Amino acid sequence: MLNLVLFGPPGAGKGTQSENLINKYGLVHLSTGDIFRANIKGETELGKLAKSFIDKGDLVPDEVTIKMLESEVNKHEDPKGFIFDGFPRTSAQAKALDAFLTSKNTQVNLMLALEVEDEELKKRLLERGKVSGRSDDQDETIIENRIKEYNAKTAPLKEFYTAQNKFVSVNGIGSIEEIAGRLYAAVDAEQ
Ligand code: AMP
Repeated sequence: MLNLVLFGPPGAGKGTQSENLINKYGLVHLSTGDIFRANIKGETELGKLAKSFIDKGDLVPDEVTIKMLESEVNKHEDPKGFIFDGFPRTSAQAKALDAFLTSKNTQVNLMLALEVEDEELKKRLLERGKVSGRSDDQDETIIENRIKEYNAKTAPLKEFYTAQNKFVSVNGIGSIEEIAGRLYAAVDAEQ
């Protein structure tokens, strides 16, 4: 199996580049943000709970997020691999993912980190907010809180994956094709 973690702050291009990676490597795409949004739309209990955090730009609690992710993984029989988009976002999630994949006799192969500076992120998110309809993309205070959450809780995961020799930094500035090319080169070098 090929399991990739696509990592980067909000607005780095994880969703866009996930599409490219899925098409190229035939992976199953699991975006915790997308799954939460589908639950909010469907007005499930999980959706109601997640909404209260997402609306503020806070992270949804680990226990809920980990349980949801594991149940999504378990829905797939014999996948070629997964692309985890927006997960893990805390060290508890990273440790849980390691333990969970080990129990399935597999592992994270690579953590691909899209690097984009904060000012560019804010600009991109506000632009996306005009078309995405996502309320968390339309308010500068919420955007700043999301970036703050990323820097405080998620960015430290670079060290976690560096220690496992799985961390690859990818320049997230450029055209979609250029960035995709950088990601493919990193994945192909690993295989
Ligand atoms: P995203 O679509 O990845 O930008 O996620 C949108 C929002 O969903 C985030 O700002 C968080 O509130 C929540 N979220 C998504 N993934 C996670 C995660 N792995 N852990 C906690 N909260 C998450």
